[in-house]
Amino acid sequence: MEPLSFTFTLFNWKCQYRSEAWHVLGYVPDLEMKSSAYKTKQRLGLMGKGHPCRNYHSCLERIVMSLKQNQGKHEAIKEWICIGDYVSYRRCFFPVALMIGDSQSQDKMCGRYLAYANIPRLCRACDVTPEESDNPDHKCNFLSMTDINDMCLGALQLYKPAQYGIGIDLNEFTPLEIKEAQQEAHENLQLMSQHMHINAFHDVWLGSNTCGLLESLPHDMMHAFLHGVLMYVIEVIMSPLNPTEKFQLDAIVDDIMIPLRSSLRKDYPRCSFTHGITNLTLLTADERCGVAFVLVLVAISKPGSDMLYKASKRIENALKRGQKLNVEVNDAYIGIDLVGDDGETEEEIVIAESLCEPTKMLYMLELMLAFHAWYKTGHPFCLKTKTDKRNMLDAIRTMMKEILENAPRNDKNGWKLQKFHDMLHIVRDIENYGSPNNVDAAPNENNLIDFAKRPGKRAHKKEKFLYHK
Ligand SMILES: [Zn+2]
Repeated sequence: MEPLSFTFTLFNWKCQYRSEAWHVLGYVPDLEMKSSAYKTKQRLGLMGKGHPCRNYHSCLERIVMSLKQNQGKHEAIKEWICIGDYVSYRRCFFPVALMIGDSQSQDKMCGRYLAYANIPRLCRACDVTPEESDNPDHKCNFLSMTDINDMCLGALQLYKPAQYGIGIDLNEFTPLEIKEAQQEAHENLQLMSQHMHINAFHDVWLGSNTCGLLESLPHDMMHAFLHGVLMYVIEVIMSPLNPTEKFQLDAIVDDIMIPLRSSLRKDYPRCSFTHGITNLTLLTADERCGVAFVLVLVAISKPGSDMLYKASKRIENALKRGQKLNVEVNDAYIGIDLVGDDGETEEEIVIAESLCEPTKMLYMLELMLAFHAWYKTGHPFCLKTKTDKRNMLDAIRTMMKEILENAPRNDKNGWKLQKFHDMLHIVRDIENYGSPNNVDAAPNENNLIDFAKRPGKRAHKKEKFLYHK
């Protein structure tokens, strides 16, 4: 079950951290809690794939109905308003400014495919392809939701002209012509990685933004950076270390990080790790930042940099010999675990030479920590001129290039990730909505306990009438 809650932009983000500042509009049930056979059956055919998306938006449609009627755009809402020391009778407007959520919920919100590889469009805001997504110099072409809505409406007219068509009589066409038109409509939507649906927000007033809903879904840094890019960088750094090196690293960290009682501690990332820093599972977003901070301290310290330098040499040698990276190496015998000639090792040697080298690692991690501190501190963000924007984007691009060079990610999709590309959209989000703290999803995830888990236990979930069959 997923709650849709709202608050007012009049409140600052400290106030928004409290669950009392939020009001729940409604709940969308989890439509995926069905047997796999049911889901397979439901998704058969051309129309089948968009079923969950259309059902989701049918639910949302009901939830936002009261919001649409009370935005004050068409019908005047007049109230007594307190402005400073005065009370005045004014007309009120309630446009929706932005919607906060994680990548998946925001993709659901705009009807994009919930896939992050092997699709033509990787990101909801622009038309970037997976191949281009790891290019820091990519120039984004931002899309407009109006265009996508028009495409969806045009396609749906071919199926249900009575419901969606405006004066179209399908009897004028032969069944073959209709079928070909349907096929073409599906292919066009597929190129945009969009489900065929009528978006619940298509007639919600979203203020004066030019790209509609797609501009109202800013990227949340907790998911994109802390649980995304930073997490993968730490994984890449740690993965080639062998057990002895990991043990040494933990020992060095224990040595450096002495528990301190200081009022300044809250200004630094969280640095207490009960299970050591090499144990990467079950870390929270804040702790990941702490791991990066501790790694910087390790790389600066003499024993730490010596250890990392040794590790980087070993990794380099192992790569040249085509050995596995994270095995124990005995000086007397260096022939363990030879990898077969599958042609892939050549490429790995070229890109992974600088792994774990303390100076390069230090520079990359410093850039990332500075970036985290910069967006977390909040205002002021200097974005008055085009040069300011360009400088901000250039700084982010420099960080991305360092990551590509010094944390080469080879498994799965490498750095061809939506979260990596999202970094390029931060400037636009800050320009639209100010500090990234304003769109941080972390406080709302805490509020979920109040909003969803408690009421969820008491709700009956058997309404079937509004779903698409
Ligand atoms: Zn983009």
